[in-house]
Amino acid sequence: MKIALRFVFVLLLFKAQLVSAQAPAENVIIITLDGMRWQEVFTGADSALIKDKKYVDDENDLRTRFWHEQAEVRREKLMPFFWSTLVKQGVLYGNRAYGNNVNCSNYMWFSYPGYNEILSGFADDERIKSNDKMNNPNETVLEFLNKQAKYKGKVAAFGSWDVFPFIINEERSGIPVNAGFESAVDKNLSDREKFLNQLQVEIPSPWGGVRLDAFTHHFALEYMKKYKPRVVYIAYGETDDFAHNGKYDAYLKSAYQTDQFIKNIWEWVQSQPQYQNKTTILITTDHGRGTIPVDEWRSHGTKIKGADQIWIAAIGAGVTPKGEVKSSGQLYQNQVAATAAGLLGITFTQMGKAGKPLQLK
Ligand SMILES: [Zn+2]
Repeated sequence: MKIALRFVFVLLLFKAQLVSAQAPAENVIIITLDGMRWQEVFTGADSALIKDKKYVDDENDLRTRFWHEQAEVRREKLMPFFWSTLVKQGVLYGNRAYGNNVNCSNYMWFSYPGYNEILSGFADDERIKSNDKMNNPNETVLEFLNKQAKYKGKVAAFGSWDVFPFIINEERSGIPVNAGFESAVDKNLSDREKFLNQLQVEIPSPWGGVRLDAFTHHFALEYMKKYKPRVVYIAYGETDDFAHNGKYDAYLKSAYQTDQFIKNIWEWVQSQPQYQNKTTILITTDHGRGTIPVDEWRSHGTKIKGADQIWIAAIGAGVTPKGEVKSSGQLYQNQVAATAAGLLGITFTQMGKAGKPLQLK
C-alpha cells in the first residue's frame, strides 16, 4: 500500500513537472500599429480634434462612425475587436487614467529606436538614433528564434515601412521581410498574391516609403496560409503617417481598419488546427504622440511631451483574461521581446539587457 501510494505520488510529481515545463504557446504573432496613441485606444476619438476643420474634412461622417459622449462607447466604435473580444479574452496595459503606465525606455521616441526596443528587447540610444536604412547591429528576438532548431525557417515579417528589412536585418538574420513596396516573391504565388502585386503598382500610395496597410496585411495572411510560420511579425504603418499629415479622419479610419485586420488574423488563427488555442498575439506601438498643445497630436520625438507613452495588448495561449488593467503599474516597451520568446518557453535576455517578460498568466 505504502509503496503503491509512493508510486502514485512520484507519477503525479512527474506529471506536474511535465506540465510546468510545457510552453504556453507554440506560435507567436507580434503586431505593431505605428504611432497609435494610447489616448485613442482607451478613450476613442478626441473631442477637440474631431471638430477641428484643420484636421477633419467631413466631421459628420466621422461623428456618425466614431463619436459618443461616453469614452467607453467611443473606444468600442473605434476599435471594436479590442473592446469586444480582446478585452474579454486578453489583456490591455497602458490606460494612464488608472496609473497603468507603459513607456518606451529609449529617449528617442520615434520609429527605428522604438522598433529596435520592441524587437531587440532593449533601448540602444547610442547606436539607434535615426530612421536611416542602417542594418540593425542588434539581434532581434525574431533572429534569435530563427536560430533555434524548432523555429528555423519558420519566422517571417511584413511591414508597411520600407525600413523594416534593415531593422530586422534581413541580410544577416535570413528572415524573409516583405516591406515597403516589395511584391510577394515566390515560386508558387497564390491568385490573391498575384492580384496584390498588381494592385500595389496600380494604387498610388500617399507616401514614398510607406505602403497602405491593406497590402501588408494581405501579404502576411497569404503567406501564413501557405507556409504556416511559427513566429510572425506584422507592422502596420498608416496611423503614424496620416497623423504626420494632420489627417485626423484618416488616422481614425485607419485605427478602425487595423483593429479589423487584427480581428481577421485572430479569427483565422482560431480556425486553423496548427494555430488554434496554441497561438498568442502581442500588440503594441513604437511610440506615442503629443497632446498639449493640441496640434502636437501630429508629432512625436524627444521634444514632444508624452511621446514615450505607449500601450501593450495580448490575446491567446498563455494569456489570462484580465481585460483592461485598472491597477497602477509600470511596464516598458523593452519587455515585449522576452515576452514573445517566453510564450514559446524560451528565455531571451540579451545578456541581461532585455526587459523581463510580462506576467500574462
Ligand atoms: Zn512618425
